[in-house]
Amino acid sequence: MSRSENKRVLLAKPRGYCAGVDRAVEAVERALEQHGSPVYVRKQIVHNRHVVETLTERGAIFVDEADDVPEGALVVFSAHGVSPAVREQARERELHTIDATCPLVNKVHGEAKRFAREDYDILLVGHRGHEEVEGTAGEAPAHIQLVESAEDVARVTVRDPDKVVWLSQTTLSVDETMETVRALRERFPTLQDPPSDDICYATQNRQVAVKAMAPRCDLVLVVGSPNSSNSVRLVEVALSAGAGAAHLIDFAREIDESWLDGVETVGLTSGASVPEILVEGVLEYLAERGWTDVAEINTAEETVTFALPRELRTSRAGR
Ligand code: SF4
Repeated sequence: MSRSENKRVLLAKPRGYCAGVDRAVEAVERALEQHGSPVYVRKQIVHNRHVVETLTERGAIFVDEADDVPEGALVVFSAHGVSPAVREQARERELHTIDATCPLVNKVHGEAKRFAREDYDILLVGHRGHEEVEGTAGEAPAHIQLVESAEDVARVTVRDPDKVVWLSQTTLSVDETMETVRALRERFPTLQDPPSDDICYATQNRQVAVKAMAPRCDLVLVVGSPNSSNSVRLVEVALSAGAGAAHLIDFAREIDESWLDGVETVGLTSGASVPEILVEGVLEYLAERGWTDVAEINTAEETVTFALPRELRTSRAGR
């Protein structure tokens, strides 16, 4: 059998857009349709270069802070959520707001507020500096401390070891998070769990699919941007599940030909903020080089959808 007959692609499913990203991107598109350009967006609406570039071409202006938006203008809050301080900034500037925060991020905000009201110490497992973590921590800064990994656990101090709860960022590695929680529980045996999983269904499903595929792959390509937490996690999960190698790419053109040397089976997946057109670009790239045999590895059917932000369901969004 020749080498090219052994060339095959395993395509992970689920991959790509989750319900929260779909909703956030559509929110900006609808805002542009209903209000015309410019529509300001605080931070990247979702962490994907292609999406941000495409929406910029259509008239969206991405800014870092609500303070960068002209007074009285329309601003969309990104899928990652915002803290109450940002909402206050927007009110002070009399901005018209559309909140595209994913409902599953909002759920974690709700948990943070509830446990803070009940005077718990809240240990938030997540990555320092990530927008979602800043938004969640901002709900109850006096009660929340960030725990980035199991190594951080020794440094945690709480007021009452019997009144501690852990919550998490929605896009973490499930396995690493459980390791951190195990270490936390060793220190705080009565540590309370979140009322339901904070790592969202989409993050979990994409990791399960990669785990199923990776042991059979010489190389796994993950389409996603470097600032996309769930995409970066997919590379790590692929490697720890036995992939020969794994790389994160925004576009097919970023593939280094040398990665394919000696490779027969290529696994392909994409993060939750990645449009399918970018995966198709990689499939074309691979097909041109002999990888025409494509099989999907399907580990879950996703049926979750979210209604558009309420401000877009009325005729004058947020105005
Ligand atoms: S990855 Fe999860 S939490 Fe983030 S936008 Fe998608 S569904 Fe929501």
